[in-house]
Amino acid sequence: MATHPVLGGPGSPPTRTPGSPGTRPPWDFGQAPMLIAWELTRACALKCRHCRATAIPARNAGELSLAEISRVLEEVADLRPHRPIMIFTGGDPTERPDLSEILARSVSLGLVTAVSPSVTPRLTDGVIAGWTRAGVHTVSISIDGPTAEVHDHFRGVPGTFEASLAAARSVVAHGLPLQVNTSVSAETPGSLESMAALVRDLGARRWELFFVIGTGRARDLPALSAEVTESALVWLARHAPTAPYRITTVAAPQFRRVREELAGPGQRPEGPAVKEGRGFAFIDHLGNVAPNGYLPLAAGNVRGEPFSAIYRESPLFRVLRDASQLRGRCGRCPFREVCGGSRARAYAVTGDILAEDPACPFRPEMAAT
Ligand code: SF4
Repeated sequence: MATHPVLGGPGSPPTRTPGSPGTRPPWDFGQAPMLIAWELTRACALKCRHCRATAIPARNAGELSLAEISRVLEEVADLRPHRPIMIFTGGDPTERPDLSEILARSVSLGLVTAVSPSVTPRLTDGVIAGWTRAGVHTVSISIDGPTAEVHDHFRGVPGTFEASLAAARSVVAHGLPLQVNTSVSAETPGSLESMAALVRDLGARRWELFFVIGTGRARDLPALSAEVTESALVWLARHAPTAPYRITTVAAPQFRRVREELAGPGQRPEGPAVKEGRGFAFIDHLGNVAPNGYLPLAAGNVRGEPFSAIYRESPLFRVLRDASQLRGRCGRCPFREVCGGSRARAYAVTGDILAEDPACPFRPEMAAT
C-alpha cells in the first residue's frame, strides 16, 4: 500500500486525531506497527465474492472477550514513541453487541480509532451517530463499483449499493471522515474513472483500493494480472495529484514504484510502503496475530503472549521486514526497500512468502540498462 489506510504516510496529518503528534522521531517499523487491523468477529450477513475471511453467519464462541480486547488495547496504547492506529473490522464488527464499548475503550486510551463495518441493516444512522459521539476518527465504507449492478454482484446481496451510498452520506453528515474502500479485481479496473467521480461526490477524505488476493472466497475469482494491476496503478498515480481525497492501495505496494517512475528520477516522495509485517499487523477474532488478513499465517496469539513480542520478535514478522531476503524479481529490484511486493499475494500464488509478487510486471534488469 502507498501509506496507511487511515492517516496517510509517516508524518501525514491525521483527519481527526487525539493530541498533537509533535516532532516525534520517524516510525520504527521494527518496534511497532503503524496500523493494526482487528477482526473482531467473522460473522457477517453479506456474501462477498472476494471475502478473505470466508465470513460466516454466526459469531464464533471462541472470539476474544471484551476484557481480553481491553487488555491488548492497553498494551498497544503503551507502545512508544508511536502508537498504532486501530482499525476495527470483521466479518462485520457491528455483529458484536459490545462494539461501542470496544471503540470507546480504544478512543479513551488515546488510540486513533477507525471502524470498517459491513453495510447491512445493522448499520443505521443512529449507530453512525453514536460513533461520532464516541470519538471515532474514521469510518470506511466499501463500494466496489459505480453501479448497483457491479457492487451488488460483488457483495452478493441486492440493494447493498444503495445502502452503501446512504451509509457513506450518513458518515459525512455526522461529521466523520469518510474512507471509501474499493476492491480491484480482474473485472473492475475499467470503472475507475466513474468510481473516482462517485468517491468525490460522496465527499470522501480517502479512497483506498484493495487489489484482490486469491485467499478465502477470492480463490474462485480470476487472478488479477500484472498488466491489469499496472494499468490501474498508473491511472491512479496520474489521478492522485488532482484528486480531492488521498489515494492509498492495499496489496499493491508497487504503487510506490509507479509513482516514483512517473515523478522522475530521484523522486522518492514517501517512505516505505506499510504492509504485511512491516508497519502492519492483523489480529483475528480468536486472537491470532498475522502479518495481515490476506496472509493467514499466525505468528502468535495475544491470549498467550504480548502483542509487542509477537510483532517485534517472531521469525515470521522479522523476515517480512528484511527486504534482503526477497527472491526473484523483488529480490533484485531497486525498489525492494520501499515496495518489496505483496507478500500475501506471493504466498497465495506460490506458497512462498518471499517469492516475487506475480502482479507486478517490473523487470529490474530492464531498469538497470
Ligand atoms: S519487482 Fe517486486 S519490489 Fe520491484 S516494484 Fe515489482 S513488486 Fe515491487
